[in-house]
Amino acid sequence: MSRDMLHALAVQAPNVHWCWGERVERVAPGVLQVAGEGPVRFDLAIDVRGVNSRPDLAVRGVRGEVIWLHAPGVQLQRPVRLLHPRHRVYIVPRPGDLFVVGASEVESEDRSPVSLRSAVELMAAAQSVLPELAEARIVHMEANLRPALPDNEPHTHTEPGLLRINGLFRHGWLLAPALVQDALTRLGHPPAPLRGFPPPVPEGGHSLWPGQARSTAVLDGTLAPAAPSDVPPAPCAVH
Ligand SMILES: Cc1cc2nc3c(=O)[nH]c(=O)nc-3n(C[C@H](O)[C@H](O)[C@H](O)COP(=O)(O)OP(=O)(O)OC[C@H]3O[C@@H](n4cnc5c(N)ncnc54)[C@H](O)[C@@H]3O)c2cc1C
Repeated sequence: MSRDMLHALAVQAPNVHWCWGERVERVAPGVLQVAGEGPVRFDLAIDVRGVNSRPDLAVRGVRGEVIWLHAPGVQLQRPVRLLHPRHRVYIVPRPGDLFVVGASEVESEDRSPVSLRSAVELMAAAQSVLPELAEARIVHMEANLRPALPDNEPHTHTEPGLLRINGLFRHGWLLAPALVQDALTRLGHPPAPLRGFPPPVPEGGHSLWPGQARSTAVLDGTLAPAAPSDVPPAPCAVH
């Protein structure tokens, strides 16, 4: 998850004690161990370390690259996805005349900057769909790893004192709310239904499949913010 998103979450949960920049070395039932510190006991330890959850999970990193373009005047109201022999390319309009073009999928844990080949292919594909992008300015390029398990499916593990969620691969932002709901239900804390879910079935139409409906709720920003907790902040490390 990007640092911006983590900061947005922190704003929504003021009573949570956030330990920025700490590296967790071990996650076990009811136990977290931060680098350089002793183990600390908790009611529930949650492991969402992505690629760094090895060796507890057989997770691998799959490289993805995106390009940010600035193109004032180019009109695009919705994300567009196109078929491409090498990339599943999408163009996402963002506020401020920005467009995100992504994403490559390379079986490698290389986090180095975007390659010329990926950049050329992504931008050529985007421009073939929207020729008006020809004069766009390249404002940012980004490469990162997606955590994937051997079957490329998301995985939730629960046992007393421990929750692990991993393998979100290409669709982590989309899947996260549904996976968290599922995990809370497994832990015996079923959350309140999402506002706007299930969506109304259009007259004479078909219902959306549940994952799509939940994703729509997330994309529309209709998720309720987390309720503030009464739990006082705890120190990052207790000896
Ligand atoms: C280029 C690109 C484009 C993408 N586009 C989309 C998209 O359009 N839609 C979509 O749904 N998904 C997209 N994804 C996929 C999405 O980013 C991932 O599925 C998602 O980030 C996985 O979330 P995660 O929280 O499981 O793992 P991560 O995002 O990898 O988060 C793991 C977190 O754990 C922290 N961490 C790791 N090790 C430790 C440790 N030892 N101690 C403490 N903290 C630790 C990391 O700092 C990080 O914050 C994209 C991914 C990439 C790379």
